[in-house]
Amino acid sequence: MTANPPDLRPDLAQARLAETRRPGQPTIGMVSLGCPKALVDSERILTRLRAEGYGISPDYAGADAVIVNTCGFLDSAKAESLEAIGEALDANGRVIVTGCLGAEPEYITGAHPKVLAVTGPHQYEQVLDAVHAAVPPAPDPFVDLLPASGVTLTPRHYSYLKISEGCNHKCRFCVIPDMRGKLASRPHRAVMREAEKLVEAGVKELLVISQDTSAYLTDQERLGEEAPITRLARDLGSLGAWVRLHYVYPYPHVRQLIPLMAEGLVLPYLDIPFQHAHPETLKRMARPAAAARTLDEIAAWRAICPEIALRSTFIVGYPGETEAEFQTLLDWLEEARLDRVGCFKYENVAGARSNALPDHVPEEVKEERWHRFMEKAQAISEAKLAETVGRRLEVIVDEVDAEAATCRTKADAPEIDGCLFIDAGHEGLSPGDVVTVEVDEAGDYDLWGRRI
Ligand code: SF4
Repeated sequence: MTANPPDLRPDLAQARLAETRRPGQPTIGMVSLGCPKALVDSERILTRLRAEGYGISPDYAGADAVIVNTCGFLDSAKAESLEAIGEALDANGRVIVTGCLGAEPEYITGAHPKVLAVTGPHQYEQVLDAVHAAVPPAPDPFVDLLPASGVTLTPRHYSYLKISEGCNHKCRFCVIPDMRGKLASRPHRAVMREAEKLVEAGVKELLVISQDTSAYLTDQERLGEEAPITRLARDLGSLGAWVRLHYVYPYPHVRQLIPLMAEGLVLPYLDIPFQHAHPETLKRMARPAAAARTLDEIAAWRAICPEIALRSTFIVGYPGETEAEFQTLLDWLEEARLDRVGCFKYENVAGARSNALPDHVPEEVKEERWHRFMEKAQAISEAKLAETVGRRLEVIVDEVDAEAATCRTKADAPEIDGCLFIDAGHEGLSPGDVVTVEVDEAGDYDLWGRRI
């Protein structure tokens, strides 16, 4: 539901992708919209193109054609995608569209008839075919070396690791299963090989993503005593990098992961979208409706791994949500005291079954509930961060400039959570360094600390 910040758009990420273009080298630009999963797709496409001898242009002007990887999850994301396609057409003129919105080609060609080709989500071969047709390859075997880690659009010290595609759930507000299909897991071996290559290439933090991380490999094997995600998390943890788990659906077997966090094999961080807490709302969403048991589950996780940070996302203003249901959500949040929280106002998405539900909530009520929810979430975040003042924490350095080093604690995922700033004695630090700090100040979402 979120868009990548503009500095992750390759057309703007000059420093990361700028490279010397050899004479005659065909060159492609890429605009990557949407969630981290779409970013991984963009990285894969660029990796393949780079391997075939294409240059990657950091701007529109230097590109022979531009790929726009779109997001079609919400109507606002669709509008943003159409806008990005229009911008690329104006600036470059030769545009290939891929990604989630590519599943609706007429929607794109209706607005932008001049695009060269439209391909759907993870149709890598078709995107490459479209690129080959628009800008034929001109390989040079002596200079076209694929970097060991592939091309990444994220900074070198962390990398997303996609373990599966698609989802077998049928949440009513979500069209991902229609767009991305049923769960299809990558083999354990293939994921491990990619992770090992990334770590060998200097990656210090692996961000495990998928649409449904805890369902990993359940499309191919039965859930035995140890869930396949537990096995994978343990093996990834043995590589020596930080391992962070995203998009973990609340299955009972999630509790197998918590001891790995307590042991330090996997970061004590669980990104687990709960979406709501009232059983009736959850039922209308077609989500597991056991919020009270979820509180017990959270208490059990915290008993095993007290430093676990819980991140979740919620939807307010879902069709039929009464004031009482919303109040239950607020009370639940107060009790659950989650560390990181994202909140979306419900929006109709073309094709979603929730559109047809009765009693849609007026926009101004959604807005008001969103503010009340965020106010509570912020107060919890502020109180929890205040508790860290005086504590010693390990942090990873993301960026260093003259004024400060911007770092993250183990409780902060890049791009979506807060930061810890070291504004004195940060000279000599480099991105990817892991150092210990003592926290000396806390804000609503960020911390400040000094090296010890
Ligand atoms: S689990 Fe996630 S991806 Fe799957 S249908 Fe529900 S919201 Fe969509």
